[in-house]
Amino acid sequence: MSVLPSLLHDEAVKLWAELEGKPLSPKDRLGIPMQEMPAQDPLERARNMGEVALGYSAEQAQIEASRCLQCKTAPCVSGCPVSIDIPRFLGFAARGQFQDALGVIREASLLPAICGRVCPQESQCQAPCTLGKSLKNPLKAVAIGRVERYVADACSDQLPPPAVKPDTGKKVAVIGSGPASIAAAADLRQQGHAVTMFEAFHKPGGVLVYGIPEFRLPKRIVDREIETLRQIGVDIQTNFLVGRTRKLKDLLDKDGFDAVFVGTGAGLPKFMKIEGENLVGVFSANEYLTRCNLMKAYDDQRASTPIYRSKRVAVLGGGNVAMDAARSALRLGAEEVSIVYRRSLEEMPARQEEVHHALEEGVRFLTLKNAQKILGDDQGRVRAVETLSYELGEKDASGRRSPIALPGSEALLEVDTVIVAIGNDSNPLLRQTTPELEVNKNGNFVVDEEGLTSLPKVWAGGDIVLGAATVILAMGQGRKAAAAIHRFLSEV
Ligand SMILES: Cc1cc2nc3c(=O)[nH]c(=O)nc-3n(C[C@H](O)[C@H](O)[C@H](O)COP(=O)(O)OP(=O)(O)OC[C@H]3O[C@@H](n4cnc5c(N)ncnc54)[C@H](O)[C@@H]3O)c2cc1C
Repeated sequence: MSVLPSLLHDEAVKLWAELEGKPLSPKDRLGIPMQEMPAQDPLERARNMGEVALGYSAEQAQIEASRCLQCKTAPCVSGCPVSIDIPRFLGFAARGQFQDALGVIREASLLPAICGRVCPQESQCQAPCTLGKSLKNPLKAVAIGRVERYVADACSDQLPPPAVKPDTGKKVAVIGSGPASIAAAADLRQQGHAVTMFEAFHKPGGVLVYGIPEFRLPKRIVDREIETLRQIGVDIQTNFLVGRTRKLKDLLDKDGFDAVFVGTGAGLPKFMKIEGENLVGVFSANEYLTRCNLMKAYDDQRASTPIYRSKRVAVLGGGNVAMDAARSALRLGAEEVSIVYRRSLEEMPARQEEVHHALEEGVRFLTLKNAQKILGDDQGRVRAVETLSYELGEKDASGRRSPIALPGSEALLEVDTVIVAIGNDSNPLLRQTTPELEVNKNGNFVVDEEGLTSLPKVWAGGDIVLGAATVILAMGQGRKAAAAIHRFLSEV
């Protein structure tokens, strides 16, 4: 596995040697170059499932943390959905006290190795960073996520599992096992409540295991967090579909649970509703990624479900899920993968870093184009996508310039596989089997500011409430609801 050299690394080490031992002035800190993230070579990594970003060395983490100006206003903290005390953790990391740094993060976030990898820091904690503002370049903000990832990877095994208070005699059911549920279960268990987590799949972790690919988030990291839940006594029941295996209300009325947290996510794929979507070779991104990640389709020796072998793939959509699907298709052996997106690169909702990685790996971007029909052969298999070209008009409600179709611009893109990645709706089963639950027009649960649903004793959080959102927002909601459930259980 070859590693791209960090161009700024030597320069920074030299500077670091000059500064070491001296108290750093803001001017010194402004002069420390940002540490690049070492990464696998793009063409090599596009054909293996190994992690793309390889992580900082201890030295790099220390140098990067030393760039923090320790400003009094700490706007980074308000940019973090779970309010990690970022300057304090960076202060420890800058002194090489990585365990203490992790201790600070753990006060607010249970999943730092995961969030350090997948959080959109550029639009959260790093966006308002004073250093980025002083350098007039938000991309030069302190790389908070990369330091977080380093301290979590280096020290997570050294910290004992969180302490659990004496048993309260109260029982809580947590439905789903994604980040919202993990956060809720951990907090409730630490308060001494008995927690049972019910997960529909055979493996816990939610999107962290079935959606986000191995090359961005190695599954051993998710497994370690799930193991911590088990160590503190959370009972995890897999292959348990609440609504079918057992009704939600039965958990309360018949099974003796005192409260329920619902974190069932947004796993219902949307389709384009165009001709040909039922052909063999059309997948939702959810199905494609689940087969690849959860069922290990990339590993011929271990795959427990087959996957369609593709040569030419079209991925419809321009978000993070589309990038994950396109990059997974390359790793599953496709010769040519094209993203088909109806606006321009500038309007793409995917993280810049993901777009950049996909481009480096050889994914083609067919922008200002949209699929209007999928064509099949006489066996009912995909043979091409008919696209229509677009131009950009005025800004629409989303703040992006709206795509306007150009009649007569039809073209054929020859492919054998189409992956539809245009978004997900909330999972419908619980609302269908629990009519008392109030939902909004998108099918998301309606909750109060603490996460309480319209059904007494039932709280909810994460994507089932927010619609498809982010890991850290889901965790924040899980924690807020857990605090409310704990208050409720303390009063009954
Ligand atoms: C491909 C992909 C890539 C993403 N990349 C990123 C990223 O890089 N960064 C980021 O911050 N966010 C990312 N996201 C979004 C993020 O993963 C989600 O916002 C987050 O996982 C939501 O957490 P959750 O706990 O609400 O639900 P989920 O993670 O969706 O977990 C819900 C769980 O509930 C289970 N479940 C559903 N119904 C039932 C039932 N009736 N009974 C029992 N169990 C049930 C499901 O099987 C699932 O395991 C990505 C999403 C996808 C799909």
